[in-house]
Amino acid sequence: ALNVVWLRNDLRCYDNAALSSAVEDASKSGAAVMALYIATPKTWQLHDMAAIKQDLIRRRVLQLQQEMAALNIPLLAVEGSSYQQVDVVFTALCRQFQLKVFVQTEYELREQQRDAAIEQLVLANMGQFIRFDTQCLMPPGTVRTQQGDYYKVFTPFKRSWLAQLQQQGVRCCARPAMLPASNLQWTQQVMTDLPAMKEADNSSQQWPVAETQVLQLMRNFCRDKVADYQQLRDYPAIDGTSKLSAYLAIGVVSAAQCVARLQLEAADSWLQEKSGAAVWLSELIWREFYKHILVAYPNLIKHQPFQEDTAAIRWRNDTTLFNAWCQGQTGFPIVDAAMRQLNQTGWMHNRLRMISASFLVKDLHIDWRWGERYFMSKLIDGDFAANNGGWQWAASTGTDAAPYFRIFNPVSQSEKFDPKGDFIRYYLPELAALQGKLLHWPHTTGGIKAYCKPVVDHAVARKLTLALFAEVKQKN
Ligand code: FAD
Repeated sequence: ALNVVWLRNDLRCYDNAALSSAVEDASKSGAAVMALYIATPKTWQLHDMAAIKQDLIRRRVLQLQQEMAALNIPLLAVEGSSYQQVDVVFTALCRQFQLKVFVQTEYELREQQRDAAIEQLVLANMGQFIRFDTQCLMPPGTVRTQQGDYYKVFTPFKRSWLAQLQQQGVRCCARPAMLPASNLQWTQQVMTDLPAMKEADNSSQQWPVAETQVLQLMRNFCRDKVADYQQLRDYPAIDGTSKLSAYLAIGVVSAAQCVARLQLEAADSWLQEKSGAAVWLSELIWREFYKHILVAYPNLIKHQPFQEDTAAIRWRNDTTLFNAWCQGQTGFPIVDAAMRQLNQTGWMHNRLRMISASFLVKDLHIDWRWGERYFMSKLIDGDFAANNGGWQWAASTGTDAAPYFRIFNPVSQSEKFDPKGDFIRYYLPELAALQGKLLHWPHTTGGIKAYCKPVVDHAVARKLTLALFAEVKQKN
């Protein structure tokens, strides 16, 4: 018998319930234990997964292979292409072993279909397929109204989430103990069908991948930085946020670990409203909110707007404007600096995600799905639920969205959140010599030669946005 821990977005040894259960089960049944990761670049492409995120996954899996080797758990990392190919591996394994497969649940459509197919295959071969709902601290579906419905608005969701946390507490599982040396003979058989995982290209090199290092980053943030989070988190020139999103997205660290550590380090303040710790916890709850919403409203995965009436908005979808936005050449410094941060680093500060998303939709009148897709294709932390939720929030088409008539003014956002212009100067060296208001709007005195002219007039664009929304809202 063989217990297979099929890893996907849970690339960790600590607090990995699927892994711990596989090991525990094996200690009773005598089964062998192995871990498995199947890279699927074709499906990743279909999902617009950024190259930098793919690289982070590869680097992490190869590192995890060593970390698991220290526990005597062989990790077979193979190169497939699409999800259809996953069954090649399981067919081979089923041919040889009686399988118990341990996985962390995934909520997206193709992932659900893939898992259902593998479950069928394993069951048909007298095996077992066991799911662990551990992507969130409160699994989707567990936080509901008193009537049993899903929440559509964040604040009551959060209240209920916190009440549940008080009741349940947080538990993380330990890293499993080392197993006796393994002499499993699976490699040859499966490897003949699928090659070993490709080397990483190292484009994500700035991001460490050793589990202990990532945990240390999380702990340091909770110990040293979380107290100031509320004051600093909105300023992109300041390193005031945790930068854990990429790790949470692929599960190098779990939400439960973050919350447990927060509780430990900020025991006296973490439930005090507006404390840094409480505000950071809120962000983790946003992450869980969007996963709940994704499960509750399956149309979201098909990129349908949550507010159905907004499906009829007649977006202008001008490709020249879209390209200017993608390349950071709109003539709005804060937007351009934001997009250059994304293009150059694979990550963008949250405040800037809000500003640049709002700009695409409400200043350029481009369908939010174009932006959603572009972000996904560049972000190291690309996560369907958070990205879709963020875009629908910014576009005023989502659950708990910004009201459509509240439209960010990119210049005043810039003055407010990059007051000294340090962030703009860093990404737009062509503006570096400017001071004060000119840095946020360099066009008043005829502009700067080396910098592009504004592609739209915000005041005019704003009016058109109001008209576009009014058109679909009046019909109801
Ligand atoms: P911190 O401020 O330290 O927050 C801690 C963690 O909470 C984050 O790592 C993240 O996991 C979670 N979180 C924070 N804010 C949000 C939020 N608004 N929604 C959901 N989870 C949140 N986040 C992603 O992880 N992946 C995405 O693809 C993504 N796309 C976004 C698109 C748009 C248009 C917007 C407005 C936001 C998006 N976010 C996304 C949310 C947020 O911008 C990032 O999670 C955050 O900037 C990551 O930086 P951090 O780890 O330093 O966050």
